[in-house]
Amino acid sequence: MISLVRRTTALCVLGAALAACGTSGTGQTPRPAPSAPAPAPSSSPSASRTPTLAPGPAGLTPVFEHGPRTDGAKDGRKNGKTVALTFDADMTADQGPRAASGERFDNPQLIATLRRLKVPATVFMTGRWAEEYPDQARSLGRDPRFEIANHSYSHYAYTDDCYGLPTVSKDDMRADLERAYAAFEKAGVPNPMPYFRFPGGCYDKAALKELSATGVTAVQWDVVSGDAFATNADAVTRQVLDGVRPGSVVVMHCTRSAAPVTEEVVRAVVPELRRRGYRFVKVSELIGAANGRG
Ligand SMILES: [Zn+2]
Repeated sequence: MISLVRRTTALCVLGAALAACGTSGTGQTPRPAPSAPAPAPSSSPSASRTPTLAPGPAGLTPVFEHGPRTDGAKDGRKNGKTVALTFDADMTADQGPRAASGERFDNPQLIATLRRLKVPATVFMTGRWAEEYPDQARSLGRDPRFEIANHSYSHYAYTDDCYGLPTVSKDDMRADLERAYAAFEKAGVPNPMPYFRFPGGCYDKAALKELSATGVTAVQWDVVSGDAFATNADAVTRQVLDGVRPGSVVVMHCTRSAAPVTEEVVRAVVPELRRRGYRFVKVSELIGAANGRG
């Protein structure tokens, strides 16, 4: 009974954080700087070619929310409308026993569907997830269709008040982020991206300052799929289709236990957005376009 209560509580905490993906950021505007050199994480030799945003005011970690709103009509490009599907691979340090007892924090069927439909995507992975599913982490990391980015080590919040998530202290933030990259490296993920998604989407100036030395670009979103704990795929599908505009970043999850209808949503959303003239891209392409290199 106690374990059931504890489990329910933990699920609710994670659920709240997942659902919190509804809130938007604090309104920082990314500042494109085409001439700025791309910061490179130490574990990523090819990252010098990776588009990142230049630091924000006072050197703060830049925050990216969506790409240019262009439909490509002006410059005559075909398929000018782009959209990035992003999938968060959440897992907390204390969920290991639940995974060991059969709960699935991965979603191989979803990944298979993305591959079958030839949809590029960006996966924001916790280090803990890479430890639990190293084969899948490596497979995703080696597949050029996907890019792996950082979603913290154990999905602890980087601000004090973030939907009940436990918090990482300011002094530990950088180490937590680096620990996730170390887990990716150990799993055999080559060249993870220097992009970071805050757990629960919660950040403040102090967190942006603390991470500035890591060279990451913080990546939020402008479309909330609402897939966390959703049971109605149609409602999630509608929410995505209603929300997507050119350059949109859609937040979804690739954790089956916490987001059971996501694969079904992808099967519905992908052909419809293509019918509307959208091309699926990874976040790096949107950031490159924001920098004027796209
Ligand atoms: Zn998350």
